[in-house]
Amino acid sequence: MAFSEAVKRAVRSKAHHSCCICKGVGVEVHHIIPQEEGGPDTEENAAPLCPSCHEIYGANKNKRKFIREVRDAWYEICAKRYGPGDALDGIKRSIEELTEKVREHLDTKYARRSDEVLESIDELVTKVWYNRHQLRKQMIDVGEIKLVKRERFPPKSSGRRPIQRDIWEGALKAAARVEAEYGVENLGPWDDFEWGMINGKLSALRWVMGDGWDMLDT
Ligand SMILES: [Zn+2]
Repeated sequence: MAFSEAVKRAVRSKAHHSCCICKGVGVEVHHIIPQEEGGPDTEENAAPLCPSCHEIYGANKNKRKFIREVRDAWYEICAKRYGPGDALDGIKRSIEELTEKVREHLDTKYARRSDEVLESIDELVTKVWYNRHQLRKQMIDVGEIKLVKRERFPPKSSGRRPIQRDIWEGALKAAARVEAEYGVENLGPWDDFEWGMINGKLSALRWVMGDGWDMLDT
């Protein structure tokens, strides 16, 4: 008789296909008590040995106990090495947590977090808007832009397009909120250099977030 395929598979699998003595990969399933001595074709009588260890230890009667011991020790190591399903889940969780920690560390140490960048973009866009609002306000104050009940396209020659009164009132409220948030002293007016800085910063931050360099909408 010989080992059944099922026994061979079980032995190889428990040994992770490695020799229980030298840990070399690629094993033969060895009868510890030889067949001629009536050794059974059972897992208990089987040991995973590479061809070389098979040759060295296989026929040595004095090594049978040794083979059995290293086999059992190796099975135990193999079982612990990858562990049952829940142990593996534990390892996966630890790796995910570690990865997350590393990512957070790298984010804060070497780069701004994206929410910080978006916050800065928001602030710059708000300041640009506020400045345009102030220019519009001056034009309204001097009568260059008219406030109307309902916005209409003016005739081509009649200068600046009028602004609908309720829309303008909404804009004034928004401007007041901006002043409360940033302080009037931080809201211009800016000279050309300062404008250049603001627009440069805005372009750079938008670029970081994936926009093209020439994205200038505000
Ligand atoms: Zn070996």
